[in-house]
Amino acid sequence: MESALTARDRVGVQDFVLLENFTSEAAFIENLRKRFKENLIYTYIGSVLVSVNPYKELEIYTKNHMERYRGVNFYEVSPHIYAVADNSYRSMRSERKDQCILISGESGAGKTEASKKILQYYAVTCPASEQVQTVKDRLLQSNPVLEAFGNAKTLRNDNSSRFGKYMDIQFDFKGAPVGGHIINYLLEKSRVVHQNHGERNFHIFYQLIEGGEEDLLRRLGLERNPQQYQYLVKGNCPKVSSINDRSDWKVVRKALSVIGFNEDDVEELLNIIASVLHLGNVQYGGEEGNACITSDTQIKYLARLLGVNGAVLTEALTHKKIIAKGEELMSPLNLEQASSARDALSKAVYGRTFTWLVNKINTSLTYKVHTHTHTHTHTLVDGLLSSHFYLCCSFEQFCINYCNEKLQQLFIELTLKSEQEEYEAEGITWEPVQYFNNKIICDLVEEKFKGIISILDEECLRPGDASDITFLEKLEDIVGGHPHFVTHKLADAKTRKVMGRDEFRLQHYAGEVNYNVNGFLDKNNDLLFRNLKEVMCMSENKILTQCFDREELSDKKRPDTAATQFKASLAKLMEILMSKEPSYVRCIKPNDSKQAGRFDEVLIRHQVKYLGLMENLRVRRAGFAYRRRYEVFLQRYKSLCPDTWPNWQGKLSEGVAVLVKHLGYKPEEYKLGRSKIFIRFPKTLFATEDALET
Ligand code: ATP
Ligand code: MG
Repeated sequence: MESALTARDRVGVQDFVLLENFTSEAAFIENLRKRFKENLIYTYIGSVLVSVNPYKELEIYTKNHMERYRGVNFYEVSPHIYAVADNSYRSMRSERKDQCILISGESGAGKTEASKKILQYYAVTCPASEQVQTVKDRLLQSNPVLEAFGNAKTLRNDNSSRFGKYMDIQFDFKGAPVGGHIINYLLEKSRVVHQNHGERNFHIFYQLIEGGEEDLLRRLGLERNPQQYQYLVKGNCPKVSSINDRSDWKVVRKALSVIGFNEDDVEELLNIIASVLHLGNVQYGGEEGNACITSDTQIKYLARLLGVNGAVLTEALTHKKIIAKGEELMSPLNLEQASSARDALSKAVYGRTFTWLVNKINTSLTYKVHTHTHTHTHTLVDGLLSSHFYLCCSFEQFCINYCNEKLQQLFIELTLKSEQEEYEAEGITWEPVQYFNNKIICDLVEEKFKGIISILDEECLRPGDASDITFLEKLEDIVGGHPHFVTHKLADAKTRKVMGRDEFRLQHYAGEVNYNVNGFLDKNNDLLFRNLKEVMCMSENKILTQCFDREELSDKKRPDTAATQFKASLAKLMEILMSKEPSYVRCIKPNDSKQAGRFDEVLIRHQVKYLGLMENLRVRRAGFAYRRRYEVFLQRYKSLCPDTWPNWQGKLSEGVAVLVKHLGYKPEEYKLGRSKIFIRFPKTLFATEDALET
């Protein structure tokens, strides 16, 4: 019997549901390991794809491979990211239902690479016309641009995405990509002004300095040496061996023009990037604690590049406007306040420019609606789940882990729902599955009035003595009794040893995490002094005029806090995802040293746990391990029974019934649904597979 699978493809099991001992984590990891050693980086849990980063180029992404996965059934070929892409695409076309692919895993696990592979697959295999080709090119080229501005070298990943991404692709009724839309979440703005040792700022800064043409650098007032810039020296890591900033610069410049940026756009964009570097070099000195700017070189460049008045900018970088008894007063800042005002400006300028960039890309991907064209969308979500569970976390990590909880909740709900729906559609009784519902943790974080975010917002708004510590005390008062919450004061002696006095601990579904409250209020407020905002609103830079709106200056409404904005955008995302049919890619990082071939079991066990893979497998195995459409099952095994071989003439379901009877299946081993056979235990299937081989 012909099969596209070779013996090597069959190392271990290619679907974890076929593991005999499916509750054993050790068996799970052993199967991953066996396959990983053979470069089989993909394995399924039902329809979920588990992927282990090989940290080397594998010959499995060629055009031939793409062709091989087009239109085939999941189980006839070895597991692959293309199979997920293809399946999802075909469901969209045949069932006319919107699809989404959720890609998760810790930093360096391969999420971004996976999303690129999927995009490439669609670019090559979907039908094309001239107009569609433009969309395909722009979709593909949006990647290098977003990566230049949103990715950076970290200790975990040389090309780490420092933002979450939701990408929507629209297809017309012929199945051709005709438009797209990107939403970005939580850019790590703090990286603009500070990097940890061994890490870098966003790639674009180095690309510009290393790759920018001589006259461009001269115009921007930049030197070709990253060490000259305060914002680039913190991590002490200007060069990365796996990155060529110079050639990446060319790639990005080209991508910008493919996406439809004209020369003016690019000029203004680079003016902003250069301004951020100049801002970082603004140094303060001054007597009696009042900050003043010691050299005006930077201000000269800043005034020109940002299109603002130098004197006004200087004043705004050293003073704070206060309104007392209806009168405006300029109150001098001390050195520390002035540096943090400057850094806040850099972060705001960069962060808003990034959002502008995403919007600009979206405009270029906008689908022009034609009458009589149905579109279906297809969504790729990457990077929201990229956190590692650190022992001690900051505000940013708190937001990311909250997002993890929400996505986990969605995952469990949707997996259970789709299992249930399939059983119902097939007319098979559904046996309820017990699982841990993490709603209780989501509520602890997001509930109105008494959730952590509400309490934080309240402290942020409270005038007077509000501080990170009073926030912590409020938490103790209000959620102190929650089973998933503890602080140093509330903890038992053992836990107290591993907690600081300025920390609270959450028991996440994936494990315990301590959060240090330091900076929570400031980061949640994300404040930019009013006079700095005013200066930016006067800017003549065409991008900045779109980023800083005069409306903000009116006192009518206080902008939402960072956490509340994030909560709202997450809620919106969940709503979108709930309306789509999901596919999942779960990425695993095999070791911390970015090395090929090294399988670090401790690290992997940790990820298997927080990705909820065992739970997922349990749900999937609760009923039947294996299910296959009648025609597929019959086609594969009909040679085993004289009554069905070579061509069964009757109804497919009856053919399958005859076949399994002949094979000696016992009634408790299987069930026949409307269009599929369900087999309870892997061993039944293995026996049948073995019979094929002999
Ligand atoms: P982050 O959360 O930090 O953005 P990530 O999950 O997006 O991490 P990637 O940037 O996709 O991680 O992958 C990290 C690196 O691992 C890549 O730069 C590449 O070198 C390698 N890698 C990932 N997936 C593959 C693959 N399928 N084949 C070969 N190398 C890979
Ligand atoms: Mg990434």
